[in-house]
Amino acid sequence: MLSIMSTQVTGFEELKNQYSFDSYFSKIIADLQGSLQAENLPYRLHEDYLFKGNQLCIPKGSLREQIIRELHGNGLGGHFGRDKTLAMVADRYYWPKMRRDVERLVKRCPACLFGKGSAQNTGLYVPLPEPDAPWIHLSMDFVLELPKTAKGFDSIFVVVDRFSKMAHFIPCFRTSDATHIAELFFREIVRLHGIPTSIVSDRDVKFMGHFWRTLWRKFGTELKYSSTCHPQTDGQTEVVNRSLGNMLRCLIQNNPKTWDLVIPQAEFAYNNSVNRSIKKTPFEVAYGLKPQHVLDLVPLPQEARVSNEGELFADHIRKIHEEVKAALKASNAEYSFTANQHRRKQEFEEGDQVLVHLRQERFPKGTYHKLKSRKFGPCKVLKKISSNAYLIELPPELQISHIFNILDLYPFDGCDGTASTIDAQIQHLPIAKVEVIEDVLDVKEVRSRRGNPYRRFLVKWLGKPANESTWIAEEELKRVDPDIYEEYVKAYSSESSLF
Ligand SMILES: [Zn+2]
Repeated sequence: MLSIMSTQVTGFEELKNQYSFDSYFSKIIADLQGSLQAENLPYRLHEDYLFKGNQLCIPKGSLREQIIRELHGNGLGGHFGRDKTLAMVADRYYWPKMRRDVERLVKRCPACLFGKGSAQNTGLYVPLPEPDAPWIHLSMDFVLELPKTAKGFDSIFVVVDRFSKMAHFIPCFRTSDATHIAELFFREIVRLHGIPTSIVSDRDVKFMGHFWRTLWRKFGTELKYSSTCHPQTDGQTEVVNRSLGNMLRCLIQNNPKTWDLVIPQAEFAYNNSVNRSIKKTPFEVAYGLKPQHVLDLVPLPQEARVSNEGELFADHIRKIHEEVKAALKASNAEYSFTANQHRRKQEFEEGDQVLVHLRQERFPKGTYHKLKSRKFGPCKVLKKISSNAYLIELPPELQISHIFNILDLYPFDGCDGTASTIDAQIQHLPIAKVEVIEDVLDVKEVRSRRGNPYRRFLVKWLGKPANESTWIAEEELKRVDPDIYEEYVKAYSSESSLF
C-alpha cells in the first residue's frame, strides 16, 4: 500500500467573509461588482478571494500581523530587517500601509532588538570581476571561534556564489586543514553545483594551493590544471558573515551551544531573502523559481499562483540572469564610490529607555560567548554627559562602568511578545570586575614591540585602594570613561605644549 502525505495551512478561508467588514476592500469589491469599468481595475475576485495582481488581499485584522511574523521571524524566517521582510510580504500579499505595519513589527521584535549588532564599517570594498552565471565564481570564508556544539563544531565554512549570492553554511572544526575543507567542499558544493572557475578567499596562498590540489585529485582526471591566487578579500563574504552572525544570534538567543541545529533554517532563510545588490532572492536566481514557504501551503485558487504561464522556462531564467548582471554592475559601482561607513545620528534625553550594547571587552576574558544576545535592557538614561557619552542606570550586580558611548546605545520603545526580564538577562552575563574609574593619576608614552609609540594611563579604580591602580591602554580608557579621557588629554596636551 502506498500513502501520500500532503499538507495545507488552514485558517485563510475566513478571509472571504472578512472583506465586507473592511472599509478599504469592501469598497473595491463593490466597485468590482457594480461598475462597468471593473475590467480596468487591478483587482479581481477569484473563488471569493480578492486579488490585486498576484497578491492576495488581506483585510484588517490579526492575520496581517501573523503573516509578517511568519515571514520575518518564525521557523523559516531569518529576522531580516524592514526592507527584506517587506519584500517577502509584498511578494504574496497586499494591504494598504503594509510598509508601516512591517516597520512597526520589525522594530518591536524582541529577537531583533536584543540579538542584532550595529552596522560596522567593513573597510575598503574592492569589486572583483563580475560573474555572469551561477556557481562559477565563488567566495569562501570561515566564521571561527563559535561556542562548541555537542558534535564538537566550533566554526562555519561559508561558501557563496558571487552571482546568485546563494550561500551554503557548513559546520566544521576550527582545526580543519585544507584537505578536510576540500573534502567538505566536494561533498557540499561540487555535488550540487559542479566545479567552479574561481574561488576568492582570504586564506593564505599555501592553504588555497593545497585545497585545489586535494580537490583536483578528487575529480580523478588526467587533465592538468594551473591556478593563480589573488591575495584579496572579497567584501561579499564579510557581509554574508555579518548577516549570518546576526541571524544566528536571533535564532539561538540563549542557547549558543546548539547553533549547528539551526544552520539549515538559517541557510534557507538567507537564500530565500531578497539580496540588496541583485534585488532578488538567491533561490530565484539559481533555480529560476522560489521554493515553497509554509505560507504557500495555504489552499488558494491555482491560477493565482502561476505568473509565468506560457513563458518558456529557459527564457525566464535567461531573463533573470540578464537582470542580475545589470544589477550587479550597478551595485558594484555604487559600493565602490560611496563611503559605506554608516553612523547613526541619535540623541537621548534623561529618562529615556535604551538598550545597551555590552561589549566583550567589558567582561573578563573567556566568559563571553560570541553568540550571546548582544544587547541588554531596557535601562534608563540618567544623565547626558556629552553628546557622545551617557550615564545609564544599570542593576548593581552588573559591576561595570555606567558610562556608555552613544554608539553602544539603542532607543527602546517597547517590544512585542516576551523579552526576558533584566534579572534573567543578568544570569546569562558574567559578573564583571569593578570598572569605574575614579581618577587618572599618570600618563606615560611607551613603544610597542614594533616601535610605534602609544600612551598608557595609570588609573585609580573606584572603591579600590590607590596601590591597586593599574596602567591601561589609551583605547581602554577611551572606552571605559570617554569623559575622563577627554579631560585628561586636553590637560595633558596643553601642559606638554609648554615644554
Ligand atoms: Zn526579528
